[in-house]
Amino acid sequence: MAEKFLLRFEDVTADLTAIDAYESDGGYETVRKVLKELEAGAVVDMVKESGLRGRGGAGFPTGLKWTFVPKDTGKPVYLLCNADESEPGTFKDREIIEHDPHQLLEGIIISSYAIGCHDAYIYIRGEFALGYAVLVKAVADAAARGYLGEDILGSGYSLRIHVHRGAGAYICGEETGLIESLEGKRAYPRIKPPFPAVYGVFGSPTIVNNVETLACVKHIAAHGSDWFRSFGPESGPGPKLYCVSGHVTKPGVYELPMGTSLREIIEVHAGGLRPGRSLKAVIPGGSSVPVLTASEIDIDMDFDSVAAAGSMLGSAGIIVMDDTTDIVKALRTISHFYHHESCGQCSPCREGTGWLERILRRIDEGGGTDEDLRTLDHVAAGMMGNTICVLADAAAMPVRSFLSKFRDDFEAKILEGQGGRAVA
Ligand code: SF4
Repeated sequence: MAEKFLLRFEDVTADLTAIDAYESDGGYETVRKVLKELEAGAVVDMVKESGLRGRGGAGFPTGLKWTFVPKDTGKPVYLLCNADESEPGTFKDREIIEHDPHQLLEGIIISSYAIGCHDAYIYIRGEFALGYAVLVKAVADAAARGYLGEDILGSGYSLRIHVHRGAGAYICGEETGLIESLEGKRAYPRIKPPFPAVYGVFGSPTIVNNVETLACVKHIAAHGSDWFRSFGPESGPGPKLYCVSGHVTKPGVYELPMGTSLREIIEVHAGGLRPGRSLKAVIPGGSSVPVLTASEIDIDMDFDSVAAAGSMLGSAGIIVMDDTTDIVKALRTISHFYHHESCGQCSPCREGTGWLERILRRIDEGGGTDEDLRTLDHVAAGMMGNTICVLADAAAMPVRSFLSKFRDDFEAKILEGQGGRAVA
């Protein structure tokens, strides 16, 4: 895929945050076409036919999600753009927001039209100060040109987009935590059901879609569902943004067809490992997913293939670790993050994340025992599937996978702490 769609600002010399440049590049023509030529139901059908699956982490089919909005409830329907990108290792949505915000706005307008929404919100992570400023300006510029507001381009359709800046908590990226936060409350995730499509923000039907997902909608509407399906596997096609960080020579965001092999992403696009180093481990989808070993990177990076390999595509945040990595320290850092970000509603998560971090700290600082390894796995297993949201699973999965795949590293550190000689 030589041509860039989601990251096309890399190939365009003009500043695409400026609406004049965006319009010169064909910007907002897709909105014009959709509002003039398509019924809302036809847009939903087109997105369903495209096979688009949510790019935020769960991979749920986007068009199908839209059909869950109940008809004729008498309540307004809301679209929430989840721009809270907080998963460690993930920095793709920020690229779209900061460099090409109008394609996101086009995606939001088209998606809102499809689901019958007249007030859409972009919930942006608090730390994204630049992105917030860029979006506020982009929304104002789009409204001034008649792409937002009342009777857009004479179509009879009206939409307002509100940009809401969060205060910077990981749990605000969980869709019901995001909804609570948008309502002005502490971001406590809600028990589901009811699902947001039925009872979401302000008690109304609500669709929550990720930034990259909504940007994809713009390109599906522009080029058609067959075009979108021409990239990647049947079960989850399209162009995809992969974030690569860690021990590679060219960390960054790469737009490639969904299903590009993990080895190709690391060795070709991200420039491979630093000179003289060998690969130790790779986290393929953000810090919450199970880790892979060096011998497991010959997999296609799409939802189903990564799941079949025992991990998850998640947010496609690829974290590469070479042979200099202290595996125990790496897991301790991850566990610290989830302990810090637990909202505290559920005892398995509130207490479990703390136990995991404390045990890992003990092992890392030389006071661990073999019993600690059994306790770690036991605690992590007990956290999974027993809580309101999946943060507990997100904390537990790395622990269980690091322990099962790199047990020697943990045992070596325990032995070293006990005064024994480390196992090579
Ligand atoms: Fe909060 Fe953790 Fe329960 Fe999620 S799993 S609701 S983050 S305590």
